[in-house]
Amino acid sequence: MSGSLSIIGLGPGDIEMRTPQASATLAMATDLIGYGPYLDRVETGPEVIRHASDNREELDRARHALALAQSGRHVAVVSSGDAGVFAMAGAVFEAIEHGDPIWRELDVQVVPGISAVFAVAARIGAPLGHDFCVMSLSDNLKPWPVITTRLAAAASAGFVIALYNPQSKARPWQLGAAFALLRNILPPSTPVVFATAATRPEERIDITTIESADPARADMRTLVLIGSPDTRVITRPDAPPYIYAPRRSAA
Ligand code: SAH
Repeated sequence: MSGSLSIIGLGPGDIEMRTPQASATLAMATDLIGYGPYLDRVETGPEVIRHASDNREELDRARHALALAQSGRHVAVVSSGDAGVFAMAGAVFEAIEHGDPIWRELDVQVVPGISAVFAVAARIGAPLGHDFCVMSLSDNLKPWPVITTRLAAAASAGFVIALYNPQSKARPWQLGAAFALLRNILPPSTPVVFATAATRPEERIDITTIESADPARADMRTLVLIGSPDTRVITRPDAPPYIYAPRRSAA
């Protein structure tokens, strides 16, 4: 029997935000591959083999998954959020492009998930109603000047910006540098949202402005959303504000 490879987005954390297609595909798997904490979010019977790995070995993990599928296994590679957004799907296709030509004949399926930016947006209102962009602030796999060029271009052009991977122990200064750059472009009152572990029990969401944003508030589980000059904030008594994009752009 021939094997298969599914690349599955698990959603942002809450099990109810995992799609039925993701759950059904996971139920067919003989082997699960992924970063340990993501595998811990998937319940399986004892017959399913789990291949947990470090978060930084994406290409090795992708090759391993392809080799297992080629040997006849039904392999599920899991990522948080959407598997194609700063996650494993790209690594799998990179391994296919540069790997054994036989891998091009495998049955490969990508199963989408709710990415962190959509989970966070839904928590605070409707901040993505107009043009927005997502960026990873990590300079592990791209040079820092590329990041600053894109950030400045996006902010100057009026995009709402969602920053994934804003901070880690190995990357302590980048978010502060990004805020400094954005303060030169955006009005001081531009809303900034720090959303940590959205949809999980330890969720924490804080709303501030670019003028006051403290990079120390972010960690590896945080998404930082930066508004545009159009972004509106509706304050409420005794409740967090709503943040939204009006239907018309003023600029
Ligand atoms: N594939 C994932 C992103 C992986 S990159 C997705 O589509 O969501 C890892 C980054 O995603 C984290 O540094 C953080 O910025 C963001 N992230 C993932 N889950 C999150 C959550 N529940 N709440 C806030 N940010 C999250």
